[in-house]
Amino acid sequence: MKKDDVKKFRFTVLGAGRSGIAVSKLLKNSGAKVFLSDSSPKEKLMYFNEDDFSKFDIPFEIGGNTDRIYDADYFVTSPGIPPKSEIFLNAAAKGIKIVSEIETAFWFCEVPVIAITGTNGKTTTTELTGAIFSDAGFDAVICGNVGLAFSEIIPRLKKDSVVILEVSSFQLEFISEFRPDAAMILNITQDHIDWHGSFENYMLAKFRINMNQKDDDLMIINYDDSVLRQSLKKFKGERGAFALNKFEDKNIKFKTYTENNAVVYSGLKSEKIINTEEIFIRGAHNVMNSMAAILAAKRFGISNDSIKFTLENFKGVEHRIEPVREIDGVNYFNDSKATNYDSLFVALESFQGRIILIMGGKKGENNFEIVDSLIKERVKKICAIGQSKDVIFEKYSGIVEVARYESLDDAVNGAHSAAVNGDFVLFSPGYKSFDMFDNYEHRGNEFKRIVNNLTKK
Ligand code: ADP
Repeated sequence: MKKDDVKKFRFTVLGAGRSGIAVSKLLKNSGAKVFLSDSSPKEKLMYFNEDDFSKFDIPFEIGGNTDRIYDADYFVTSPGIPPKSEIFLNAAAKGIKIVSEIETAFWFCEVPVIAITGTNGKTTTTELTGAIFSDAGFDAVICGNVGLAFSEIIPRLKKDSVVILEVSSFQLEFISEFRPDAAMILNITQDHIDWHGSFENYMLAKFRINMNQKDDDLMIINYDDSVLRQSLKKFKGERGAFALNKFEDKNIKFKTYTENNAVVYSGLKSEKIINTEEIFIRGAHNVMNSMAAILAAKRFGISNDSIKFTLENFKGVEHRIEPVREIDGVNYFNDSKATNYDSLFVALESFQGRIILIMGGKKGENNFEIVDSLIKERVKKICAIGQSKDVIFEKYSGIVEVARYESLDDAVNGAHSAAVNGDFVLFSPGYKSFDMFDNYEHRGNEFKRIVNNLTKK
């Protein structure tokens, strides 16, 4: 859709979250007829303020969806609503088209877009890519899944801006024209299967990032991810791929990989970018995230020196293996964002050993096998908390010492007493936070507060 055409249509925006509010204003300012509807009660809507919103002269309803939502040509959806829900079936029957917020914002975007998706690592890679572009002098505008919504940044784009957009599979499910100049899929593992209905659907939603790409667009994938590697030929555009070890594949034009402990970029020729230990953010997964970002940066002509500078200086994102403090020669790390075992795995892999692991949270399905051997090899003690503490105790007490605690405070103090000079206390829960906390940020902030109050032994 051309941005000038939106005024011909009626839009119902579903969801008064950050992106829903932003897209309502964007559409309204462009002359479209907009109605905003959210089924949640006012108290649950963190970003919605009736008085503020009223100024925009956009009709709205909250606390329920009335039939007025169907008085529309388009639904602009929110991630909260599963694709098979009743209102979508009704909408389809009435001929209403369903689009996501990124699709809508894209109609208004006249500058290059780098879109980043994957099961894990999206935020880190988005922030890192943004930092590389900013350091190189671009007006890099980071938005998407976290922080600012794509619709929110549209009014401030300049001619020379580049949008670095974190996209979730929920957003991709409902695109039709969205076409990024460079797209990345960082990895695909089991997650969000409830929402999408099956792994196959989840995977296909992620692949949609490439759906509208043309021959001269760049599609970047993780070559070590077997699902992605096997699907390689399905992707349109020029292909880029990253992997921990050197690889040969005639279907790939641009590569990054590691060789002799250095990251190498290979396009027309092979060029060393940086030694892996010079990358500030820890862990093999962050080498992968860096290699993905490099492929995008090289596409836009950023120099190797400039890329190296950013990789040496980018400090990572809060709550992702975030260094908190050193006390008594023990280093404390907050990895509250680790809400599943894939993230726990990469956190454990980022330390050579001597880990005192604080883990546990809301009970949920987890694939224990993937972390078993790392726990055996690298963890000295587990301090288990939350609903899942008994499951953790049963599973690991035969392998390492496991102590159970009623609160995070007690667990941190338990870790503090057990730790000796040279150890790492890693808070990487491996479970969601909602049993004891509002969200992972709240959990991570509590951890940092407690750690910062510890006194020397
Ligand atoms: P997302 O935005 O996809 O949730 P984040 O960058 O916020 O990703 O990281 C989420 C969690 O996943 C963190 O615990 C982080 O340590 C871990 N992680 C980061 N990058 C990767 C990766 N490439 N592969 C696996 N796990 C990763």
